[in-house]
Amino acid sequence: MDLQTPVKDAGLVFRLKSQALTRLNIFTLEDLLFHLPFRYEDYTNAVAIKDLKIGKQSVIKGTVIDIKNEFTRKSFVLQKATITDGTREVICTWFNQTYITKIIHPGDSLGLVGKLDFFGKKPTFQVKEYEVLNNGGGLHTTGFVPIYNETKGLSSKWIRNRIYDFLKNNKNLITEFLPLEELTRLHFTSLYDSFFSCHFPKSLDEARIAHDRLAFDELLLAHLAAMKRRSEWEKQNKGIPFDVEKFEIQSSSFVSSLPFTLTEGQQKAYLEIKNDLQKETPMNRLLEGDVGSGKTVVAAIAMHLAYLNGYQSVLMAPTEILATQHFKTLETFLKPMGMEIALFTGNKKTHKNEKFDIAVGTHALIQKSLDFEKLGLVVIDEQQRFGVEQRSLLREKGKNPHFLTMTATPIPRTILLAVYKDLDLSLLNEVPMGRKEIKTWLVPNSKRADGYIWVKKQIIESKYHDQAFIVCPFIDESESMDTVKAAKSEFERLQKEDLKGLKLGLLHGKMKTKEKEEVLKEFKEKKIHVLVATPVVEVGIDIPDATIMIIEAAERFGLAQLHQLRGRVGRGDKQSYCLLFTESQTEIVQTRLKYMETSHSGFELAELDLKLRGGGDLFGTRQHGVAGLKVADFRNFELVEKAKIEAEHLYPQLSQEKKLLQKVESITLKLINPD
Ligand code: ADP
Ligand code: MG
Repeated sequence: MDLQTPVKDAGLVFRLKSQALTRLNIFTLEDLLFHLPFRYEDYTNAVAIKDLKIGKQSVIKGTVIDIKNEFTRKSFVLQKATITDGTREVICTWFNQTYITKIIHPGDSLGLVGKLDFFGKKPTFQVKEYEVLNNGGGLHTTGFVPIYNETKGLSSKWIRNRIYDFLKNNKNLITEFLPLEELTRLHFTSLYDSFFSCHFPKSLDEARIAHDRLAFDELLLAHLAAMKRRSEWEKQNKGIPFDVEKFEIQSSSFVSSLPFTLTEGQQKAYLEIKNDLQKETPMNRLLEGDVGSGKTVVAAIAMHLAYLNGYQSVLMAPTEILATQHFKTLETFLKPMGMEIALFTGNKKTHKNEKFDIAVGTHALIQKSLDFEKLGLVVIDEQQRFGVEQRSLLREKGKNPHFLTMTATPIPRTILLAVYKDLDLSLLNEVPMGRKEIKTWLVPNSKRADGYIWVKKQIIESKYHDQAFIVCPFIDESESMDTVKAAKSEFERLQKEDLKGLKLGLLHGKMKTKEKEEVLKEFKEKKIHVLVATPVVEVGIDIPDATIMIIEAAERFGLAQLHQLRGRVGRGDKQSYCLLFTESQTEIVQTRLKYMETSHSGFELAELDLKLRGGGDLFGTRQHGVAGLKVADFRNFELVEKAKIEAEHLYPQLSQEKKLLQKVESITLKLINPD
């Protein structure tokens, strides 16, 4: 048995609850240890029974004089025990827990948490927590008692017992991996003591220091893992240096053939990429840019350079819709340059052989059967949707090809530095010229009907030229049946009521690819005026005449996500609009959503998200998984900074610190498999 042992194999107590544990994301014993309390009940001061005050939660200790079930007229059962602590007797009561008379017997010593209240005319002590203290104990009713995230069938009490037993009996499994010198200098306690203090602290200060150590560990390991990835990347066998100078003229004439001039950001990225591509060490660059900032064009220029050098490129996108769209874009730009472009998705293959210059597709590209003659450049769209594993599978299709990763997820600098510092960064932080800011309004519930009337009017007055998206609530991280149902019923309702007279379409992730494509085609051809969709539209559909975006239950999205959704409109040069609907009237929600009206920078909104909600929504609910972090909070800038400094201090001696190295390597594995 070790910390990676699945809980279901850790004995009967666990096996019986393994389903419930899964609901709390507890799969291994390590996960159990990392199920940290989110607060503590302060049961440090027990009171004498004679000093109990009516209505105030208190802790008492006493001996049982008698205990019995009492059947009441209203068909519930009351458990009544008489307890004394020498100062006075008190009647303690439970409701409908008949088994209690089997657990508690006269003569037992009890710890009790509850409240003295009148029951009829008599003050009785209504029990909230109890435990038998005959042989020590006190886990649940003395000191600072940890309170955990619970689920049906798993109470804090159950979790507390399991974690306590585990810590008591398995000290040897929790081995220190930080060098002693490091621990001493940072005033941290050992790993084992930190876990213990985090779950069962003697003081809140002790709990905080222990929690800091565990958070620090994660940040430190993330830093070290990234540093290691970087140095491995640099050490790996020679890549493919492209000759850029030789093809300078052809490359720039391609750029000037584009129907627009590059933005400053695009030009800078182009330079940085050119510079990388000439080197022996393969490029490993992250191209981060707001929605619509023109990342695809930059990738196309790089792929064109690969082609001029006699190499193939591959572009992998997370969804079929996106892949198809990229395929079409690249055809428009690059076919005139004489390039051959292929599409590979789960459902479609345009080419059988290797005779193409670019292969665009979904993860279907990774298949063993797909070979490249000379792969020189790998482009990955929306990095965080793919694992490290998929990256390396693509890499193996060539001899150390260059890598360009694109993301529209505005990752705040703090996170970038901690988790992705193995990548070089190019930023596109301006939107192409001539494009207007998307006017955004937070629409109160009372104005919802007016909102629809306005949308209808806009579309009709444009002579059915303008189009709208309506995005239905984000219910689940993945596309679930609930999400689909919500979109469907909204679609039907709107078609019959508020948007009667317009042609509506429906798009959701559970539709077959063919159906999805059909709907999108109709939308592009304006046979559909309003597209009701689940948040699948998030990742990027290019409909230039879509000028209105309505987002339902906007409070369920993070600001960065809202910004990405909003970016689906405003792609042409017409004024576009975004209407945020919410039923939530709480001030926090209103203030947060109001930022959307004034801020139009994805980066700024992502930073705000981080400040307001801890970044949990940046990547949907999986952000923690992607970053491999369970404990650390990126808002704790001080700790992030400390971890960075210590990582730089420790890195040179990493190979001698065997335990630490092992840990860093296991973190790398976690990144591969975020779930
Ligand atoms: P992203 O992938 O970053 O969201 P795209 O590359 O899809 O953005 O570009 C969005 C749209 O803007 C596309 O229609 C593209 O042709 C256009 N575009 C890209 N660069 C420019 C530019 N410099 N000026 C004007 N339009 C541009
Ligand atoms: Mg894109």
